[in-house]
Amino acid sequence: MATYTLHLAHLYGDLLNTYGDVGNILALQYYAKKMDTELTVDVISMEESFNPDDFDIAFFGGGQDYEQMIVSRDIPNKKNGIEQFISENKPMLAICGGYQLLGHYYIGADGEKIPGIGVLDHYTLSQNNNRFIGNITIKNEDTGETYHGFENHNGRTFLGTDEKALGTVISGHGNNGDDHTEGAIYKEVFCSYFHGPILTRNGELAKRMLLKALKNKYPDADLTKQTNLQIQPTF
Ligand code: GLN
Repeated sequence: MATYTLHLAHLYGDLLNTYGDVGNILALQYYAKKMDTELTVDVISMEESFNPDDFDIAFFGGGQDYEQMIVSRDIPNKKNGIEQFISENKPMLAICGGYQLLGHYYIGADGEKIPGIGVLDHYTLSQNNNRFIGNITIKNEDTGETYHGFENHNGRTFLGTDEKALGTVISGHGNNGDDHTEGAIYKEVFCSYFHGPILTRNGELAKRMLLKALKNKYPDADLTKQTNLQIQPTF
């Protein structure tokens, strides 16, 4: 029996789940176990309510434009809950399509405007007959951590004023191919175009999210062991 429990909301996990993004949840469960924590998961999808009080951590994966359009019709119903979750500094990981839907809008590959919920201040444009595909490496200047992954997206995302990049592009395309940023950080929300999935190759980020969720839920607990957990570097 684990000493701690955390409950994860997998937002639209039945619709936005490309390129093995669900592996992020397996990675979180793997590291949670090492942190004496049981991580339980519920998919919250179309026509279901999202109560932020029920969850400690959230994951929102990527998908095709078609599925994103479907989700964009339902997600306004969850906007208040997501906004509250973020304002309470609960950690969330949003990848690719999920990342785009947290922003203002995404112009799909066929020029269609897919509205986001604007809880983060970025927007995403399209590109003509091109996708950013390939291996990517970025570095987060604040933590000194280097993240490796694989990107595959049409969208070109531009960050808002109160968002920081997840990292600076060392190789690959990143948010838009121009400004050398990749992903976004706002409060405890981590966004990225990395598939692969990001947390299986970059355990430091998984640890950061789990530790924050544990500190939120168990403010008086001694989390020394969890804090000292060593993550094997990846290449
Ligand atoms: N459909 C979006 C794009 O092409 C998101 C892709 C994804 O989630 N991999 O930019």
